[in-house]
Amino acid sequence: MTGVTITVPHAAGCGGSFGHPCDYASIDFADRLEDSLKRIGVRDVQTAQATTPRTELDMNRKRARKAKYRRDIISWIRSNKNRTWVVDVHSFPGDSFRTGSDFVILDTRDGNYDTHTPYVRGLTEYARERGLSVSDIPGADSWQKETNDIMDTSRGEGAYSFLIEVKEDLKEKTLDSMAKAISEYIYSMK
Ligand SMILES: [Zn+2]
Repeated sequence: MTGVTITVPHAAGCGGSFGHPCDYASIDFADRLEDSLKRIGVRDVQTAQATTPRTELDMNRKRARKAKYRRDIISWIRSNKNRTWVVDVHSFPGDSFRTGSDFVILDTRDGNYDTHTPYVRGLTEYARERGLSVSDIPGADSWQKETNDIMDTSRGEGAYSFLIEVKEDLKEKTLDSMAKAISEYIYSMK
């Protein structure tokens, strides 16, 4: 049976240094996703919220690999005999992404739009078919030296992983519909 770890690396916020309270909707979406996964029958689900503010140590970067938070994620993947997913949850203020979508899935790190990971493309299409506003974009552009390290290291361990950015202040109904779409898709891939 599939196992899912939901990571919320910016759960402790960032002290306002980004000009806005970063990721404030990420914990709420992670909760909805965990509930939805359990409801559909995925029993091995856990949410890992970081307790260190991003300004102190950004848990989604390479330099945080030795932190307990990061080591625990890798240990969980290694100890699990079944297929594991690591869903890395973040949130953004409405105008951050040019796509204009409610949900943005960050995928490959190579900046190439033609190399979407099949399960990410599949999830995006599945959610779109259910009327949700979703884009999948490269996780890093060629100019961006910092990559999304939780996703990268999880994939390196053989887990299925993607990063999802949730637009802040969406309606509860929209959030629940997306959580349900992700849950159904993950469940269908067992
Ligand atoms: Zn974040």
